[in-house]
Amino acid sequence: MINEAVKTDWANLGFGYHKTPFRYVSNYKDGKWDEGAITTDATVTLSESANVLHYCQTCFEGLKAYTTKDNHIVVFRPDLNAKRLIDSAERLQMPTISVEKFIDAVEQTVRANADYVPPYGTNATLYLRPVLFATGEVLGVKPATEYQFRIFASPVGPYFKTGGASSIVLKVSDYDRSAPMGTGDIKAGLNYAMSLRSYVIAHEEGFNENMYLDSKTRTKVEETGGANFFFVTKDGTVVTPKSSTILPSITRRSLMVLAKDMLGLKVEEREVYLSELEDFVECGLCGTAAIISPVKAVNDHGREIKFANSQNGYGPVSKKLYETLTGIQFGEIKGPEGWVRVIK
Ligand SMILES: *Cc1c(COP(=O)(O)O)cnc(C)c1O
Repeated sequence: MINEAVKTDWANLGFGYHKTPFRYVSNYKDGKWDEGAITTDATVTLSESANVLHYCQTCFEGLKAYTTKDNHIVVFRPDLNAKRLIDSAERLQMPTISVEKFIDAVEQTVRANADYVPPYGTNATLYLRPVLFATGEVLGVKPATEYQFRIFASPVGPYFKTGGASSIVLKVSDYDRSAPMGTGDIKAGLNYAMSLRSYVIAHEEGFNENMYLDSKTRTKVEETGGANFFFVTKDGTVVTPKSSTILPSITRRSLMVLAKDMLGLKVEEREVYLSELEDFVECGLCGTAAIISPVKAVNDHGREIKFANSQNGYGPVSKKLYETLTGIQFGEIKGPEGWVRVIK
């Protein structure tokens, strides 16, 4: 059933799957993609031998459609999602989707579900979930020859139950998220399957999320299960971890540009050591789903590191970053050329 109730209560939406009427589907067979089309069928029927079920040949993306102040529907930098899906597909030995096909599929999905893009002022958005997976049959470990690319949509509110603006607390995880030369830098389903145990442990212990460290030295900050980090120093410099084993967040990359070019802040992308967290006064998680979530503290096996200016929601720098980013997405502020794509 389509959840019609969400339409009357946009402001109270959480981050969950609320089925909308339409999705885009394209299938790959005999070495090529079909044209792709909008359908109403929210289910997928698979062979029991489909590669995705056994060997996890699947990757995904996440982006949002926004209703702007002047009542247009826009998406934010979908070309970067398209490129990242190409990187993910190549690493998993799957056929790629061209940037043009990806953006066309996003536009078709949004247009078909336009009634489900939350109105301006509700702070809710229509989350889009592109997913590429192996439908083809295998028994031995090898790439499949048939695939499906699908995009569905779900109206969403804040990612964390605390609500978007309240601070969260993280635990330094004992598990690793990714390995050098592994798959941490792509949006592969397998990266999330193995994060679920540490996710559950963190929640059972009363934390909102995990902070993962680099698996080689376990001294450097990487990211959380689904968002990158930024930190702010006492003198207002925005610092973000540099690592080849984190997912290259489009939100983080955008924030660093905005911090430097629109807010005139000093920015640094460099290795960040767990031992230097005490030096920062603000910490935020950033990603399409999390937007910016302020982090109050990080718990490293009982040692609590607090960020003085993120105790009760956004610190001053995080707040400026949040307002600038969402201002651009909701059409209140003009952003860099080409970042916002008008669909309707
Ligand atoms: C999706 C994701 C992010 C955020 O990337 P955005 O492009 O900003 O949405 C960060 N880390 C991980 C592990 C992710 O899966």
